[in-house]
Amino acid sequence: MIQAIEQMIEEHFPEMVDIRRYLHEHPELSFQEYETANYIASYYDTLGIPYERNVGGNGIIATLQGGKPGKTVAFRADFDALPIQDEKDVPYKSKNDGVMHACGHDGHTATLLVLAKVLKQFSALLPGTVVFLHQHAEEQTPGGAISIVESGKLNDVDVIFGNHLWATSPLGVVETRSGVFMAGTDRFTIEIKGKGGHGAYPHETKDALVISASLVNELQQIVSRRMNPLETAVVTVGKFTAGTSFNVIADKAEMIGTVRYLNKDVQQQIRNDMEQIVKGVCATHGVDYEFTYAPGYPPVVNHEQETNLLLEAAKEVDAVKKAVVVQPQMGGEDFAYYVQRIPGVFFFTGAKKEDSPYPHHHALFDFDESAMTIAAKIFVRTLFRYQRTYNS
Ligand code: MN
Repeated sequence: MIQAIEQMIEEHFPEMVDIRRYLHEHPELSFQEYETANYIASYYDTLGIPYERNVGGNGIIATLQGGKPGKTVAFRADFDALPIQDEKDVPYKSKNDGVMHACGHDGHTATLLVLAKVLKQFSALLPGTVVFLHQHAEEQTPGGAISIVESGKLNDVDVIFGNHLWATSPLGVVETRSGVFMAGTDRFTIEIKGKGGHGAYPHETKDALVISASLVNELQQIVSRRMNPLETAVVTVGKFTAGTSFNVIADKAEMIGTVRYLNKDVQQQIRNDMEQIVKGVCATHGVDYEFTYAPGYPPVVNHEQETNLLLEAAKEVDAVKKAVVVQPQMGGEDFAYYVQRIPGVFFFTGAKKEDSPYPHHHALFDFDESAMTIAAKIFVRTLFRYQRTYNS
């Protein structure tokens, strides 16, 4: 049966591409994915698979009941896009100005929809229940996952698997790891309140620009000097705003940035260190400040047995050349919230496009669409292997 399912997935590749390209042309920003949600819902209408809408926002949960007893297995695909202008020169270029599917969530959605269509044909013979979880708003905190978890609609799910098409990894490569796979992602804002004045009379001012410049440098010492070198973290000041003119001393400056960490202790240390450094630098120069630290998604922590199971299942797929354990990634994902409550694993399916070297979130981002069939087959193999292993 598995081979028949895989073959049908292969036959439906053109439809997968059509769906992906339609969604690519019609991207919507996080929390505003109303038309995309309509599209997904009407697809399930056509299939005759029952679903629930507006789960925790724009989320959709479709449920396919198999004809045989078994566990409840959820597959998750996110469906939001990014505030990026699509600069690709392709027929399926985004039609929504300034909005683009630059992370492949269009592909995740197409993969899951066609998988649902194919599995429906085999439902009488399927063990257990398959949950197709279409999640809104992955790209923007607080994200859609936490509200879906809190809706309680996943309370009966035994295990959850999430795929990310990964355009920087070659086709045929599957990557994940047990334990921490992706980083926690926090955000901070620092505002320095100096005293402005004439560029020629610095002694009468408190130069917010100069103070902030030294603060940016001090912050680099959190990772390089204060942290145990065996730990991993990132402190990035991504935006620095100060000053108005060549002969005016800045009265204020603002820095915003991100912190990436793999465990709670490191997160707490960085937060404390930042606060102490900001306070110290400002005290030295006699200025006030405002420091805001906003925790984002926690790290994605994959479950060990499910990770091993997924890697074994992936190796069964013909097109998978390598299913490997990799280092943790410093990017983040709100899939983290599912695996805090439900056993499961998040993984990457290599989707590198030959002539497209652009990374995720780039204006020229694209991926090899055949990776969608690989991802669908990995889900299938994982489903059956899981049912075999735990359904006794
Ligand atoms: Mn993504």
